[in-house]
Amino acid sequence: AKLIERFEEQLKEKGLDKEVKVVRTGCFGLCEAGPVVIVYPEGTFYSRVKVEDVDEIVSEHLLKGRKVQHLVYVDHKTHESSVQKSLSEIGFYKQQERVALRNCGVIDPENIDEYIAFDGYKALAKALTEMTPEQVCQEVLDSGLRGRGGAGFPTGKKWQFARASQAEHKYFVCNADEGDPGAFMDRSLLEGDPHAILEAMAIGGYAIGADEGWIYVRAEYPIAVKRLEKAIEQAHEYGLLGNNIFGTDFNFDIHIRLGAGAFVCGEETALMASIEGKRGEPRPKPPFPAIKGLFESPTNINNVETLGNIPQIILKGADWFKSIGIPTSTGTKVFALGGKINNTGLVEVPMGIPLRTIIEDIGGGCPNGKKFKAVQTGGPSGGCIPASLLDISVDYDSLTKIGAMMGSGGMIVMDEDNCMVDIARFFLDFTVDESCGKCTPCRVGTRRMLEILERITQGKGEEGDIEKLQTLAENIKSSALCGLGQTAPNPVLSTIKYFRDEYEAHIKEKR
Ligand code: SF4
Repeated sequence: AKLIERFEEQLKEKGLDKEVKVVRTGCFGLCEAGPVVIVYPEGTFYSRVKVEDVDEIVSEHLLKGRKVQHLVYVDHKTHESSVQKSLSEIGFYKQQERVALRNCGVIDPENIDEYIAFDGYKALAKALTEMTPEQVCQEVLDSGLRGRGGAGFPTGKKWQFARASQAEHKYFVCNADEGDPGAFMDRSLLEGDPHAILEAMAIGGYAIGADEGWIYVRAEYPIAVKRLEKAIEQAHEYGLLGNNIFGTDFNFDIHIRLGAGAFVCGEETALMASIEGKRGEPRPKPPFPAIKGLFESPTNINNVETLGNIPQIILKGADWFKSIGIPTSTGTKVFALGGKINNTGLVEVPMGIPLRTIIEDIGGGCPNGKKFKAVQTGGPSGGCIPASLLDISVDYDSLTKIGAMMGSGGMIVMDEDNCMVDIARFFLDFTVDESCGKCTPCRVGTRRMLEILERITQGKGEEGDIEKLQTLAENIKSSALCGLGQTAPNPVLSTIKYFRDEYEAHIKEKR
């Protein structure tokens, strides 16, 4: 905010305020280099800009055409700068493919005209005027798009189930309750391109026969909430939400509900209970939301990133989407890269990319020449992937096979200094805290596991503790009511599988 203020002051002072526009965009992905300023049309990428650098950019670059060399972004690995090469040629961006994040960092998210200029709402027009609802569901099914929130269920199939339910009212819900530690994909998408989510929801509403949409978003994301509210207002002004959209008989409106910070409310039945004003607790399924969901009516729920792909699928077709990725996992996936990695940030890559490419080429490896040890994918529900499996293909099935999972897209990198038992303890501590307490395996079982882990990390571990952890983990996985409990033991199980020696070393330490 201070940078923008300073730019505006400086431009005014130098008489450039009519020629140069300062646009606040969403996240451009390379958080490590932020705050970032990009000067168009040539696209010079200035990194780590401070308020005191603004005068120099204005007087040197904008007035005299001389680039401020000490602020130009230089890839620390290849030493290529954004001036020598176009940004898309620089290591961090080279292997990325932007579908969901296509407009993030490019358009002003608070300006509907900019979204429209980038083909915004064209897919909705196409769906409403050229396609039947069944054709929309089929196109999404044919694209192979799977839910990006973690479970990976085919989105088109979900839409077909909801379409098939007969009811006077149906609901289309966007799950924006991103709560995994280290995950910020949905937040960036909502902040950087809110209209894309509204457009996707309207397309989905038309496809399943819903007239009302709800966005359940974390209250901890105030910028995302503000931009969504503004986007809804603008869409109403332009007749893109409300009655008779594009002159058809399709009516659709969207409401926002703020989550109060409970991780379990990301689970769809808990989320719906929370929207209804009840305590956010999961309930058994069936009935599935497509039959009996929000306010007892058929409901479809998709996560933010899943929806971010929809307008492009409708506009460019299922075949285009399928041409990205691999047959069982089509399209791209957004990951939030964090932890011990040089290029912390948001990346979008084609499915099937080797994990090594994400960690080494895009992420730039571990800082200070440290050795890569493992990466935790899928947050507290996921697993740790060791260095020996770095060449694995990043797709739903390959990750599940090795005991990790795609999850929502958090990727936390560990180097040789990290203790893997401590990492498992950290994630379990999180799930114990977030367990809603409704069912015993999760409420009591995860707590017992945490106690064992704590005594191991404190050097008080006992012989047989590893086996006890495994037995408890398997029981919790098979008997907990919802996904939170069913996946909570994953970080423990995967670290025991790949780093058992570290558990044993802690236990031996005691003796
Ligand atoms: Fe609640 Fe955990 Fe049971 Fe889910 S598994 S219902 S979070 S106690």
